[in-house]
Formats: sequence, C-alpha cells, structure tokens
Amino acid sequence: MSVELDLQLEQTGTRFRIFPQPRYLPAFSQPEVVTVSVPVGEVRPGPADTRMFVVDAANKLPYSQANRPPFKGKANPPVQPGPDGHFDHLDPKSRAFQAATMYATVRRVLDIWEDYFGGHIAWHFEAHFDRLELIPLIEWDNAQSGYGFLEFGYGRKAGGGIDHSRPYCENFDVLAHELGHSLIFAEVGYPKFANDPALDYSGMHESAGDLVAIVASLHFNSVVDHVLASTSGNLFSVNELERVGELSESREIRTAFNYHRMSDVGAEPHERSLPLTGAIFDVMVEMFQIKLVQRGLITADLAKRSSQEPDNTVQDLAALQAEFAAAYAGHETGFKAALLEARDGLGRLLAECWRNLSPDFLTYHEVLRQLLRADRKLNQGAFQETIRSCFAWREISLAPDSLLLRSHTLADCGMDSGPRPLAELEAGAIVGMIEVLEDELSRRKERPARLPGGRIPEPAE
Ligand SMILES: [Zn+2]
Repeated sequence: MSVELDLQLEQTGTRFRIFPQPRYLPAFSQPEVVTVSVPVGEVRPGPADTRMFVVDAANKLPYSQANRPPFKGKANPPVQPGPDGHFDHLDPKSRAFQAATMYATVRRVLDIWEDYFGGHIAWHFEAHFDRLELIPLIEWDNAQSGYGFLEFGYGRKAGGGIDHSRPYCENFDVLAHELGHSLIFAEVGYPKFANDPALDYSGMHESAGDLVAIVASLHFNSVVDHVLASTSGNLFSVNELERVGELSESREIRTAFNYHRMSDVGAEPHERSLPLTGAIFDVMVEMFQIKLVQRGLITADLAKRSSQEPDNTVQDLAALQAEFAAAYAGHETGFKAALLEARDGLGRLLAECWRNLSPDFLTYHEVLRQLLRADRKLNQGAFQETIRSCFAWREISLAPDSLLLRSHTLADCGMDSGPRPLAELEAGAIVGMIEVLEDELSRRKERPARLPGGRIPEPAE
C-alpha cells in the first residue's frame, strides 16, 4: 500500500494493535498500532465487517470434509469496540485481543493487496458465502485456510502436543501467508484439467503465500527499521541471516533470503517455491538498490559489488558492509523511503502478474513472462533486464522440450519448394526484420552501461 494511502487511512480507518512478529522476540515484544480501511464506527462487534467476521468458537476441532462452515457451535461473545469505535484498547493478555488481532491482520493484508490490485478482490468462495469466517483459537497444533474460512490453532510443543502459549492467530506472517492462498485462488484461479500435474502451480501458490506475507510485513515500521538498521541497507548481506538478529527467526525472512536454484529442489511445493520466491524477492532488492543509486545514497559501483557475484570473498563482504554503514549513517530516512518504494513497486508488479496468469498448465516461465509484461505496462520496462537476470540466476527457464524452443525452417513451413523469386510477402517480412534489428541496435547504443545482474539504471525522476 502506498505511503500516501496509508497516511490517509490513519485519519479515517479503525485502529487495532497487532504484534508484527511473534511477541516472544524481545525487539517485537510490544504490539504496533495498525489502521484498517473500514471507517471508524463501521467495524461491528466480532470484530466484523462486510468482508469478514470473527467467531470465537469455544473448544472447536478443525473443519474437515464432513464438517464445513458456517460454524454453528458454542462461541464466546463478540469483541466490542472501545467508546471511540476503535479496538486498540484491548489488553494484549486477553482472549479478546487475540480475536481482534486476527481480524485486524487479515483485514490489513487484504487492504494492502486490494490497493496493489487496484480494487475489490472477490472471494473465490463467493458462490456459497459472502464473508470470510475467521476462527482464532481452535484445539489443534496447526492452522488452515479453506473454502470460506481461516481457522487457527497453536504451535506444537517440542515433545509434541498443543503449546497454548503460542497461538497462531497472533502470528502475522502465518496469517498473511494463509490469506495469500485465498488471494491466489481469487485472482489466478485453479487448474481445471485432470491431466495437469500442477507442479509449478503448487510451488507458485506457496511462493505467493510467502510473498503476500513479506510485502505486508514490510508495512510495519518496526520491521522495516529493524531490517535496515541491522544491515545498514545492504540487503544482499542477509546471506548471513544472523545480521538481522531476531528477525532471522522469522520464517518469511528466511524464505525471502534463500539461495535455492531449480536444480536444488524437487516437486514438493514448499521446496519448489523457494527459487521462485528468491527470484522475485531479488527483483525487489535490485529495485531498492537502483532507487538508492538514483537518490545518490550509494554509488552504482557499490551497488554492483554488493550483488550476488561469485568472486565476492568474505573479506570483500566485510569491507562492503563498512561502506554501506558509512552510506546509511545520517541517511536513514532516504534508505527507508527507497525501500518502501521498492516494496510498492513489487506489490503492484505481482498483482498485475497474478491477475494475468492462467492457472492451467502453469509454469514458472509463464510467471517470468507475466512479470516482464507487468513491468512494461507499469514501469515502461525499466526492470526488464533485472527480472530476466534474477530468474536466470535461479535457473528458471523453459523446459528443454518446450514448443517455444522449436525452430521453423522454410521447409517446415512448406515455403522452400524449388528456386523462385522472393514472394512479395517474404520480401516484406525480411524488410520488417531488418527494421526490427536496426531499431534494437540503435536502442542498445542509447542504453546506459549495465549494472550488475543485468540491471539498467532507471531514468532520473
Ligand atoms: Zn502455504
């Protein structure tokens, strides 16, 4: 969500408090105020609104094929707003806080992604239910998103069993990831042919859940400030995850900063999601660095040396970190503004990509092509080479037997039967090809030197 819209919602929306990361991490032990888009006074007891509602079911077991929403059992009373219509008065130790935090998290993530999609996201279960049912605390050491509902239990104790001290409904990343699955069903759809192996579709689903969560969590000041302060803005440095301190405990952060390529992973969807998530997150980091260079906050040379290059040695990384520390000191605000712009750039790019993807026989190569198209539409193609190189590094390419790799000779086309003068049509085609080549050559001459990873600098704003 753009910084401007966020500021605007703070004036009109309804306030809640949520923990940006698990509260047992000392740096995130205090909840942060968030404002959801629903105008103050319009969030009803529950909390509930026109898109979703909380039912605090008592002693509920998970839904199954035989047992589906709506929930009709015994429930605790709906959580009431404070006298001012906001919900930020709730005691973080109370059950009411947990119910409200689940609503606020899901509503906030939906707000963020509806802004990137540019409007209403219709639920994929709209044929049966008008609103999403949210159940915050069920007796289960797991959580699930399903047709018309999200229901959350608790973490698992080391020796097995439910750990009631760690409710998933308070875990922003987990909730956002699960809502991400619903958004993908809504915007991409689902494979409709029985012979579709849906390998990449399943990997894309998990990757999208993680990306929805990562982009949403970069809306917390505490998360953004922590990432930047601990890395001095050298986000490629997070290959040593301990640099982000407590945030290295975050599953989403570990997922974003992974180094998996396609040759490292198999068919299991979570594993298969890693190269795709990594490629897309790298695009955001490259966009961030390009913006830092444009703002004069780092040099193009420093951006180049901080990219993932094989000859960057351990000594180089230490020196590099010192250069970032010097650049970051005194310019924290500029670094943060650049990161928020890159975050929003990635959010809009993903929304445009997802809305145009076909779910049937989906491949990562199609995701790449839709990202390129989205970039041409939204950014006049400013990040084409960045996107290509980030995907190439992850070995995301066409399958060797893809029909797209097939050449067509004139013989294949039945056009080489004996000597003959060039047909008018063929002569026209050749003239056309020459024009395209000339155009490309002149574009290359005008294009500035490539940055690392094939990036090209954006024109100055
Ligand atoms: Zn998932």
